[in-house]
Amino acid sequence: MNAPAAAPIKLSEQLASRMNGQGLAKRLSAETGGEVLFDAASRGRYSTDASIYQVEPVGVFVPRSERDVELAIAIAREMGVPILSRGAGTSQCGQTVGEALVIDNSKYLNQVIDFDAAAMTVTVQPGIVLDHLNAWLKPHGVWFPVDVSTAAQCTIGGMAGNNSCGSRSLAYGNMVHNVLAIDAILSDGTEARFQDERAMTDVPARVRELVAGLRAIAVREHDEIERMVPKVMRRVGGYNIDIWHPQSERPYTEDGSVNLAHLLVGSEGTLAVTKRVTLKVLPLPRHKTLGVINFPTFHQAMDMTRHIVKLDPVAVELVDRTMIELARDNPAFRPVIEKALIGAPDAILLVEFAGESLDEQRAGLARLVALMASLGLPGSVVEMIDAGAQKALWEVRKAGLNIMMSMRGDGKPVSFIEDCAVPLEHLAEYTSSLTEVFARYGTRGTWYAHASVGTLHVRPILDLRRGGAEKMRAIAEEAGALVRKYKGAFSGEHGDGLVRSEWVAWQFGPRLLGAFEEIKQLFDPAGLMNPGKIVRATRMDDTSLFRYKPGYQPIALQTALDWSAWDVQVDPVTEQSTAPGAGGDPAGGFAKAVDMCNNNGHCRKFDAGTMCPSYRVTKDEQHLTRGRANTLRLALSGQLGADGFTSEAMRDTLDLCVSCKGCKRDCPTGVDMARMKTEFLYHWQKKHGLSFKSKLIANLPRWAPWAARLPWLANLRDTLPGAARLSEKLFGLSAKRSLPGWRSDTFMAGMVAPVLAPEQADVVLFADTFNNYFESENAAAALMVLRAAGYKVHVARPAALDAEPQRPLCCGRTYLASGLVDQAKAEARRVVEAMRPFVARGVPVVGLEPSCLLTLRDEFLAMGLGRDAEALGAQALLFEEFLAREHAAGKLKLALNALPESRALLHGHCHQKAFDAVRPVQTVLGLIPGLKVELIESSCCGMAGSFGYEAKHYAVSMQMAELSLLPAVRAAGADTVLVADGTSCRHQIADGAQREAVHVARVLARALS
Ligand SMILES: Cc1cc2nc3c(=O)[nH]c(=O)nc-3n(C[C@H](O)[C@H](O)[C@H](O)COP(=O)(O)OP(=O)(O)OC[C@H]3O[C@@H](n4cnc5c(N)ncnc54)[C@H](O)[C@@H]3O)c2cc1C
Ligand code: SF4
Ligand code: SF4
Repeated sequence: MNAPAAAPIKLSEQLASRMNGQGLAKRLSAETGGEVLFDAASRGRYSTDASIYQVEPVGVFVPRSERDVELAIAIAREMGVPILSRGAGTSQCGQTVGEALVIDNSKYLNQVIDFDAAAMTVTVQPGIVLDHLNAWLKPHGVWFPVDVSTAAQCTIGGMAGNNSCGSRSLAYGNMVHNVLAIDAILSDGTEARFQDERAMTDVPARVRELVAGLRAIAVREHDEIERMVPKVMRRVGGYNIDIWHPQSERPYTEDGSVNLAHLLVGSEGTLAVTKRVTLKVLPLPRHKTLGVINFPTFHQAMDMTRHIVKLDPVAVELVDRTMIELARDNPAFRPVIEKALIGAPDAILLVEFAGESLDEQRAGLARLVALMASLGLPGSVVEMIDAGAQKALWEVRKAGLNIMMSMRGDGKPVSFIEDCAVPLEHLAEYTSSLTEVFARYGTRGTWYAHASVGTLHVRPILDLRRGGAEKMRAIAEEAGALVRKYKGAFSGEHGDGLVRSEWVAWQFGPRLLGAFEEIKQLFDPAGLMNPGKIVRATRMDDTSLFRYKPGYQPIALQTALDWSAWDVQVDPVTEQSTAPGAGGDPAGGFAKAVDMCNNNGHCRKFDAGTMCPSYRVTKDEQHLTRGRANTLRLALSGQLGADGFTSEAMRDTLDLCVSCKGCKRDCPTGVDMARMKTEFLYHWQKKHGLSFKSKLIANLPRWAPWAARLPWLANLRDTLPGAARLSEKLFGLSAKRSLPGWRSDTFMAGMVAPVLAPEQADVVLFADTFNNYFESENAAAALMVLRAAGYKVHVARPAALDAEPQRPLCCGRTYLASGLVDQAKAEARRVVEAMRPFVARGVPVVGLEPSCLLTLRDEFLAMGLGRDAEALGAQALLFEEFLAREHAAGKLKLALNALPESRALLHGHCHQKAFDAVRPVQTVLGLIPGLKVELIESSCCGMAGSFGYEAKHYAVSMQMAELSLLPAVRAAGADTVLVADGTSCRHQIADGAQREAVHVARVLARALS
């Protein structure tokens, strides 16, 4: 490794001295009950949000109670340290980065405080996630309708801070239209409820004077407000100085009253800290329909939007051709987007109707179809009535930006004119003009989002490491001129932050900027609340604040795995990519793979999908895919010190990653943290060596043949009283766990199947280490089923020239899990060699354990094993994938009988989910007559190879299992067969719920006639 390329992050001297060394941390620890995170890695993790900026905070405080927040504000005030409130940190403009004490509300301050069904209001703490709130409200038949794309992770406090707006703002407005009151703490410690002006009678004198001062400014600036504040609904820049003289197309209040909370909405934490928010809720619409209009040209889509909104839809959302193509390339989104397309449109508009009556919504769709025909586009609408299909398509649209960000190379779509809003009649002209601007600067942008309100998202592709800052400024200036020409708003959704506060003066003029300064001064005279946002701004192109500063360079690293696919540069206009390995990454593409994380925070979601089980349990930024990627990025660029990459802080950050590969599939940019952890562990063990326990687990395939010969000896740990406790003390294996039992009747030992030549075999069965040694009945069942279906099965054995012909083949997974990549490669070579003649003849290779078989399709391809490995990967299938494929082709001849059980409850292994391989299990189980197949909506089981066996991980492992898997298993009755293909998953189910789950092969074998 070379010397670090970038200097370690440092606080400004002035602030460091004000903090009195670590005095601030000490006081917070001593005087509050919150978590105090002041180490370099934690500060680094909170130095970014979903913007292009990076500023190291003074430290991070995670309050456990509202009292903690009050105390932290008081301590920071006394020490003169600024504070920065934070929710999920998904802001795109740099609102949540700053040299301040970051207060993260999301972990503990996330409760519903009060729900008033009669008044249709709910009061919440700021850290509650929007989707969690709506899940809470659903049983009451109501919802909070500001449906931002980041609903699964963004918090109400952050939404209020940014005046967020959702896809359906046409019908429901922005946050400012839906917030009724904010209980706020001012920087001097004053607390008050900001609400309807008429109700603010019993407030501290300080607040009375404050409100009087604010009103005086608004009265004085009446004419200027009218002249300078854009008249569009989607204006979120600056302060809402127009509460006394509303300029928005949609009034802030229904009765024209003045609500002081609305001045705090959109103030980005610069005026006060939100302690609680009271929101309006609405009845859940009972029915929704969706019309997807397919347009031959983008221009037509833009031009016709103004007619479509007249049909009274609740949303009109754009997805352009680039986004359609990117969605098509994403395995999770492809089937969904294809259902919405007619041919190859240049753009689609998603038009939603919602309300009480399905007939009315159907009528809305019919009107849309008729309108499109009258506008010259008959047959262009895909009508979606089914709620599931609609939801899936909205998910794709919501992930739109993230899909776009999955572009490899240093040029990335940059958010800075992302959300300019223009009146609808100018939309087509505006988008054409801006596209020309992009072309002039040698780039292009992808358009999507809220056509209905004139807020089209677009991010030109820029390389901020190489001249991007200048282009960014120039494009922003030209875009600004267009926005002014069309009388739009420069910030129509994402706010000001670091990227646009400089533009507040441009948008509102010097006079209103002065008024904003006064407002800031009235609220926060000491300037402690999120400094530098909205007023007193830095330049948007101040490269010292960038995450990727010009000349940014990772350290040189000889990687164990092949990351060259990420080591490319892509031409923004032609989309041509350089050859793999030609991207100039001194870390061989590893650093660029890590850079794929754009901080959007989608890994903080708790809904369906696997990502990210460790975060779901701990709710710590450290144990989150984003936190891990950020720590890796800082380490790989030398920002955590010269040895940051192999430091203990790095190890701790990756410690709870269970390598489930949830992120590989669920992260919109495909961050594969499991593979990154293997790469890290390789370098870690090279430097620090491996513990005895890790060596023991890693080398399982080597000593397994001996253990199988003397199973009584190998099983002593679980049979000899006290041995389990001793193993915990000596090796760190949890005494609460039994280990898989050794036995002499392994699958391969009992193998009588003839060795078939490649030309004789229909299929190769690969018996992995776990199913061979511990659960040979699974492999035997698979063999029985394959044969019953008439296939000639060759059971995989080492190649004739293998150095250890007697030792069964192994995929090397246990080595990968310990970072012993060289040993894993040796195992992989044996497999590739043994399978080569079969693969050459096109014989499928079928396996049982998802984490083993899928290694052939995944890590084998990153080991530099060449074409043979690629060919093997293309033919490696899970047992059920093979059967489902044969069934789909009409070739499967399997006679199955009904089982005594009427229901199968299936838990998918994480790697099955990551490779879209759960459905085949459902398909083949569905072939059993009378068996109802249900899938458990579960994340990782928590066992994850050896993870759950380790004493230090036992508690987290069980918590992961308890999130959804174990409760579902316990609820299953005797009429249910539990199915889990993963060895670890079955063990976890047995340990945690004392129930037996079986491999699908055994279920099918039982059903054979
Ligand atoms: C992929 C992607 C899609 C997005 N889509 C949308 C969209 O559809 N619509 C939209 O409006 N935005 C969108 N955003 C922007 C962002 O997600 C929203 O603004 C979101 O509401 C921010 O919530 P958060 O919890 O992440 O807030 P944060 O980013 O953590 O904070 C936002 C602001 O609120 C302040 N704040 C947070 N908590 C408090 C508090 N307790 N007291 C005072 N101030 C506080 C912060 O200081 C900051 O200024 C998107 C972002 C991404 C990355
Ligand atoms: S890891 Fe993926 S999902 Fe998480 S923040 Fe990064 S890009 Fe988003
Ligand atoms: S592999 Fe699993 S545990 Fe690790 S970061 Fe990804 S989703 Fe989280």
